[in-house]
Parts: sequence; C-alpha cells; structure tokens
Amino acid sequence: MRFFCHLTFIASVVCLGAVSGFCEQTPERRVLVIGIDGCRRDALQAAKTPALDSLVADGAMSESTQILGKRYRFNNTVSGPGWSSFLTGVWADKHGVHDNSFKGKNYVDFPHFFARIKQRFPAARTVSLVDWEPIDTHIVSHADVHKVYPAEGADGYTEQDAVIARDAAEILASDDPHAMMVYFGAVDETGHRDGFHPSVASYLSAIETVDSNVQKVLAALRSRPNYKSEHWLVLVSTDHGGRGTSHGGGHDLPEINTTFLIVSGSDAAKGPIESPTELVDLPMTALVHLGVTIDPNWKLDGKPVGLR
Ligand SMILES: [Zn+2]
Repeated sequence: MRFFCHLTFIASVVCLGAVSGFCEQTPERRVLVIGIDGCRRDALQAAKTPALDSLVADGAMSESTQILGKRYRFNNTVSGPGWSSFLTGVWADKHGVHDNSFKGKNYVDFPHFFARIKQRFPAARTVSLVDWEPIDTHIVSHADVHKVYPAEGADGYTEQDAVIARDAAEILASDDPHAMMVYFGAVDETGHRDGFHPSVASYLSAIETVDSNVQKVLAALRSRPNYKSEHWLVLVSTDHGGRGTSHGGGHDLPEINTTFLIVSGSDAAKGPIESPTELVDLPMTALVHLGVTIDPNWKLDGKPVGLR
C-alpha cells in the first residue's frame, strides 16, 4: 500500500497548521455491510445461524425494521427500490426507483453511501461484491473494487454466493478496505422457487448456507492483524421478506415489509433495539460510525441506530 502511505504523508504535510480534524484521508474505523436478499425475520429466527448469532451476541438487533418509510411508501416491495434505499439512505421519492425497471433513478443526487465516505475520506478504500447484477449496474459507485457475479436460479446464486464469500475473505486478508458491501442472493431465489416461510425446509437451509458464507467472511475479518484497533462495525439486513413465492405489493404485509437489522461490533450497543428502525438507517449508521459528518444538503432520510 505504498500509494496510500504516500497520500497520507502528503495529507499530513499539507494539513500542518490547517484546521484540525478535516485532513485525514482515511477513517479510523471500518464497516462491513452484509445484505441477504429476501430474508424473512421469522425464518432467520428459525434457522440455525451461528455466525449471525455471534454478531447479535456482540451487538444490537432490531426485529421491526421497516423497508418502507412513514414519509414515503409508494414504491413496490421488490429488490430495485429495496437495495436503493438500503445503499443510498433515502426513500424512493428521492432515489427515484419504484420497481426493478430502475426507471427514474437519481443516484446523481442520492448516490451509494460510498460516495459520502469518499467525500469525507478521499483515500478510504471501498469494496462491493454482489451477485444480483442490477445493484452493480445501477447503484454502485465510488467503489475501488466492485465485482459482479452473474447468476441464475437458486442453485446458480448458491454457487456464486460461495464465490463472493471466498473473494470477500481473500480481500479482507490481503487488501485494506474501510467499507465493504457483501451481498448474497440465494435466499431470495430459493423463496421464489419454494416459498418464503419458516416452514419451508429449503428456504431455511438457504439461510443456513448464507450463514456459513458469513462465517467465512467473519473469520477473515477477525484474523486481520489490526482487527481490534480497526473498530469494525458489521451491519446485516435485507431488502424485503416474502409471502408464498413472491414479495411484490407487500405494503400492508409485515412478513414482507417488516424485517431485521443487526448492528454489531465493539462500538455497537448491546441487546435489542427498541426504538423504531427503518432500512434507510443502515447507511446512516455506517457513515456516523466511520466519522463522516452528515451534510443536511444530502437530504438523507435515515438516522444512526444501535451505536453506543
Ligand atoms: Zn430482493
């Protein structure tokens, strides 16, 4: 990382005598965001998920996170708007995505949260690994590393999720990310094939497989030589739940529009989050943890949750 050392050196020289606090090129803390597409909270509870349990044990969890806002809830309950809210921190009237056509998208004014990190910390290293291609095509920006793993069907996504976990672990072992987004698609695909419900064995099994992927990523994270001093915050959530074999039009269905949010790490609060939480809180929590000063002109809809 000669490049970054050099940058840091220049920054520290340039900043001598300048107003303190606004010269650092990289944040002191770090964030790992894990997205599990289409994961129902009751199925997550029913599945055996030791890796995710370890995150909950070392953090805070909300089990009533709303994927639609109080202020604005007219988008469909599908992945396009869901991941847009999850990654930009604003509702669909701002990011403009109401369905999976991505028509009306406005990521120029309401970009991926990596953009806000880079604004404050230009040398922060950002990584995005996803296998639902539209996230990478449409939403991701300001990523130093972004990879897409095209997949089809539940089995295809299961295969690619495993590759994503392997690559994420490798990046955590050999690279130096400050913010990393890892996305797994197989749970949603399995729900569409067999049903979104805790009584569907293959759906639970898909969640358990994702948990084993999460385990690999966490093992690599916890093995980083400076793991303790890097103050990693791990955030886990989803874009929607499901009912039957779909999840569209779920505005009044809690099994679709009410989900979970895990906030874990040494800087996280411990125990259940009792206050209301929304999907747009996730990127705001990441930004606040990283020390990004929130500009009101960004018009973010979320608030930080689950931090100490
Ligand atoms: Zn989805």
